[in-house]
Amino acid sequence: MKSIDTFDFQNRKVLVRVDFNVPLNDKFEITDTTRIDAAIPTIKKIVNGGGAAILMSHLGRPKEGPEEKFSLKHVIPYLSKELGQEVKFADDCIGESASTLAGGLKPGEVLLLENLRFYKEETKGDEAFSKKLADLGDVYMNDAFGTAHRAHSSTAVMAEFFPEDKMFGYIMENEVKSIDKVLHESQRPFTAILGGAKVSGKIEIINNLLDKVDNLIVGGGMMFTFIHAQGGHVGKSLIEDELLELALHTIEGAAERGVNLYLPTDTIIADKFENDANSEVSSVDDIPDDWMGLDIGPESVKKFTEVIKNSKTILWNGPMGVFEMDNFAAGTKAIALAVADATSAGAFSLIGGGDSVAAINKYDLKDKVSYVSTGGGAMLEYIEGKELPGVKAIKE
Ligand code: AMP
Repeated sequence: MKSIDTFDFQNRKVLVRVDFNVPLNDKFEITDTTRIDAAIPTIKKIVNGGGAAILMSHLGRPKEGPEEKFSLKHVIPYLSKELGQEVKFADDCIGESASTLAGGLKPGEVLLLENLRFYKEETKGDEAFSKKLADLGDVYMNDAFGTAHRAHSSTAVMAEFFPEDKMFGYIMENEVKSIDKVLHESQRPFTAILGGAKVSGKIEIINNLLDKVDNLIVGGGMMFTFIHAQGGHVGKSLIEDELLELALHTIEGAAERGVNLYLPTDTIIADKFENDANSEVSSVDDIPDDWMGLDIGPESVKKFTEVIKNSKTILWNGPMGVFEMDNFAAGTKAIALAVADATSAGAFSLIGGGDSVAAINKYDLKDKVSYVSTGGGAMLEYIEGKELPGVKAIKE
């Protein structure tokens, strides 16, 4: 596999699939620049190495062709400011303007193509469309991990036109390396912490992880399905009736594989789903009928913290409670701090999935964990053990 670090970009035109799918306000100003910021090192590497960069991205979900509010031209001012150079723009990602501008591109220059999803062919992974994009450059690079689980033209299909000259950008490389490190080269003990609202959507992750981890900690709304499956009274807590049997199956599966499954023993219960609800600590399997568990309790925090601090590899996905409400955020905050402490003691920690990332940011711990994954859905599918089309297309 070619690497961005060692590739000779001199006089090459590099088609880079970036993720510039940023939120815009009604004045078309970017309200969160994280995704653009993350791509800057990749783009600079190419232009500083004497190559030209042709940037391709989607923005939003346009339905029928071009729409002003989904135009990538809105990112140009910020992008050129961050790069410290002019960014050319093709107002159509294929066709006349794109090929003229790409054709005239000189080493060190940057060209941004208009929203790929103004063509339906993009998400369909259409061959002819992929070929038209491929014709604009002579090297293909994928740096959009957030869409790596999609087999679209720009994320996977067009790679076939660059059998030799294709590679990951820095974001993709870091994501893949970090997740592989956790899944395939983990130092022991390996602890996975799963939380969030529901078990559904995470079953495959749990099953894949059972074969890899030493400890599995379960918190968040999903814990109540496990507690109820074992006969516990969980009141009005979140449960998924259709998954009770599967929860039992998981408990057995963990035991068979010698995996320590840690479920909370206590919980913070509330009499309504509101921050100012009455609340108290309760045993997790003896919750009064009209109450619901919204966080893990202090005894559970203590136990989980101990397990986390003794771990050498940590994967965390999903909050321990309704951390958006301050009165039910203590469990999530304590776990975030424990992960940070374990990391400073030498553990490798990977945080992924929207809400645990939000929690890490909320408590300002981003720099105290090993890696924070940006690709929500893509990361989850990778952890499930699925091969991501965007990764496969480069590796193959
Ligand atoms: P997910 O998207 O599945 O990771 O779920 C994240 C959401 O789960 C967050 O918005 C939390 O507020 C919510 N959550 C965590 N714990 C609970 C709980 N005990 N009851 C209801 N919702 C919860």
